[in-house]
Amino acid sequence: MAAVELHQVTKQYPNGVLAVRDLNLTVAEGELVVLVGPSGCGKTTTLRLIAGLEEPTAGIVSIAGRVVNGLPPHRRDVAMVFQRPALYPHLNVRDNLAFGLRLRRPFLRRRISGDSEVVVSEKIVAERVAEAARMLDLEELLNRRPDQLSGGQQQRVALGRAVVRRPAVFLLDEPLAGLDPPLRNEMRRELHLLHRRLAITMIYVTHDQVEAMALGDRVIVLDRGVIQQADRPRVLYQRPRNRFVAGFIGWPSMSFIDGELIGRDGHLGFSAWGWWLPLLPEQERVLAPHAGRPVTLGIRPEHVRIAAPQAGPAISLEVVLVEPLGGGSLWTLRRGGWQLTALVGGPPADQPPVGQTVEVSWDMRQAHWFDRSSGVCLGLGGPEG
Ligand code: ADP
Ligand code: MG
Repeated sequence: MAAVELHQVTKQYPNGVLAVRDLNLTVAEGELVVLVGPSGCGKTTTLRLIAGLEEPTAGIVSIAGRVVNGLPPHRRDVAMVFQRPALYPHLNVRDNLAFGLRLRRPFLRRRISGDSEVVVSEKIVAERVAEAARMLDLEELLNRRPDQLSGGQQQRVALGRAVVRRPAVFLLDEPLAGLDPPLRNEMRRELHLLHRRLAITMIYVTHDQVEAMALGDRVIVLDRGVIQQADRPRVLYQRPRNRFVAGFIGWPSMSFIDGELIGRDGHLGFSAWGWWLPLLPEQERVLAPHAGRPVTLGIRPEHVRIAAPQAGPAISLEVVLVEPLGGGSLWTLRRGGWQLTALVGGPPADQPPVGQTVEVSWDMRQAHWFDRSSGVCLGLGGPEG
């Protein structure tokens, strides 16, 4: 039985905004699914539809095999954690943790026996608070008030408040977005481990594809209210289904070059801005139906190589910018309509070759191909394509 299922769910707000369109999503019990996409793509709306804070305009929302359309949030057995932890300022950590449990106990259903409602005793409240405090490393902080906690500690309390309720589903809306990067990475790992330990169903929302890739068993890429691709992180990276996913997943981002597929001397090649590059035999086979058509070549910075001059078939581009990253650097290369980014290994040079022309090549097997107008991937890009 699926923990959460959305069937053809659409949400249009009263002001006419179509926030979510015809969304189909099945989340298995114990799965950690990440919804990722740019700001405004409908992530929060999707979570709110599951939580019962919004009702869909069309479609069916089910939790644990039960249709929940029309059910208020407190009857859905879900817990939602927001970007800014909403703690009660006048209560200490212990009481903040217990608050939801005490408030909701008339509605708390005993999961083992289905729908019968049970009251949670103070003894159980204390046990669960102690357990969550241990799990989230809050034991030393139980007597502090929220204003005596750091941002990360506050967020841990907010998570703990969800944990004590033992919901069937956790909904997390950019819970780490407000934290400093080092703390964000640490909390990300903690969350990941928490999920492993508890095997709870989690739907995690973020605009950060790095976070999405690091956390998700499965990552769902949303754009303008529509699912673009739902896959394991490796598949999203290696075989993006369209140009949007290709550009959104992976950092540094994929470079795109517009051109045409043109035959020359019996071979098909990619032609753009005065260069013609032959395709590999298997690419010729897959892309033959698109000969003569406008296409976009996609290539990831990690697959671009800066060769020594005259090292082989390559194109000459000018280095316009070198950005040191630490262990490597990011080179921006340009000429005419070509602009490529290359991830160059090794410590950054003291005098980067900005303004010089270099020979640039890449592993053609790593090239991705897209229809220029629809953005749809032609064949399957990447090493398995
Ligand atoms: P995300 O969380 O991905 O940034 P949201 O789900 O918050 O996106 O928003 C999706 C779209 O719906 C946006 O265009 C946003 O402006 C709009 N929207 C969100 N909430 C409301 C609302 N209560 N009323 C009207 N429009 C809304
Ligand atoms: Mg949001």
